[in-house]
Amino acid sequence: MSSLLPTPKPGILDITPYVGGRSAVAGSQKVVKLSSNETPLGASPKAKAVLADIGEKLHHYPDGGSGELLSAIADIHKLPVENLICGNGSDELLSLITNAYAGPGDEVLFSQHGFLVYELAALSNGATPVKATEANLTTDVDALLAAVTENTKILFLANPNNPTGTYIPVSEVERLHAGLRSDILLVLDAAYAEYVRKNDYEAGVDLVARNNNVIMTRTFSKIYGLSALRIGWAYGPDDVIDVLNRIRGPFNVNAIAQAAGVAAVKDQEFVEKAREHNDKWIPILVQNLRGMGLEIPDSVGNFILMDFEGTGKSASDADAFLNARGLILRSVASYGLPTCLRMSVGTDDDNRAVMDALREFLEQ
Ligand SMILES: *Cc1c(COP(=O)(O)O)cnc(C)c1O
Repeated sequence: MSSLLPTPKPGILDITPYVGGRSAVAGSQKVVKLSSNETPLGASPKAKAVLADIGEKLHHYPDGGSGELLSAIADIHKLPVENLICGNGSDELLSLITNAYAGPGDEVLFSQHGFLVYELAALSNGATPVKATEANLTTDVDALLAAVTENTKILFLANPNNPTGTYIPVSEVERLHAGLRSDILLVLDAAYAEYVRKNDYEAGVDLVARNNNVIMTRTFSKIYGLSALRIGWAYGPDDVIDVLNRIRGPFNVNAIAQAAGVAAVKDQEFVEKAREHNDKWIPILVQNLRGMGLEIPDSVGNFILMDFEGTGKSASDADAFLNARGLILRSVASYGLPTCLRMSVGTDDDNRAVMDALREFLEQ
């Protein structure tokens, strides 16, 4: 018998498995989880109500085309339903895009502190991840354009970006697109679009509508509070949507997710509440934490990035101090930001608890 073992394709063993935001602390019963940019308001009561009936239908396969969910999304966003696709979280869509368009010898470009999934998707396909530098923790269009080579196949842009919370205005996204060859696919990952309140921001709908090489991805995991169900969607050109439909699993979005997603997207009143809660807290958190000496880039999302660099204390000590009080923030060393922690906006009580604990930590 041969002793050769099954060997994964090149690139796979270079992957450091993704570690999500922690949800428990040893020894703590009640914890406040502010590590994954989830909404403190939970899901719409209408989405929860749908789940009560679904038990009777569990023996049926889901609608493979997520038809009702796509129609509901098309209605709310006024988009052509034939140019939409749903995924098992937008992570699945980001992977499918990479599976379809990048392989060995190809480069997948994104910015220095961009979302980790881009690198995982590139390596999974034997493609080469390429990172462009950022300026002031913000996407730098010139640096991205300078990093394009003849091998570049995909450019992932998280706008706003996670974990920095910063964004670039639509004029900059347009300038980026204008500088790209037409055979490079520009992926606009707008996971936090619903939270952004800036007149010069756009998630990317117009760019997709006018071009054949731009796709926008969105998620139900953030403002809709349905992270557990894994629902993402994308709006793209005919050809790209066709390609993704060929390679996705035939039933990639489960029936529970579809039913809850329909109810959630129709409840825009609930979305507005989540947005208002965020609008109230982002400035309070930023102002108070900056007052304690932490550096924080302006955030347009539902989270902030705090830098301990100038405080004489380390992010990991802060993390441990908060953990001991049942408060879980996100270490972002894996994003190349070892002196920072990321905090998602929580409930009123959660946010006050974090501010109080950090004040105590920084004064001790
Ligand atoms: C949270 C997040 C997503 C969403 O992932 P899902 O798979 O839809 O839960 C996508 N992109 C970025 C930048 C994110 O922060």
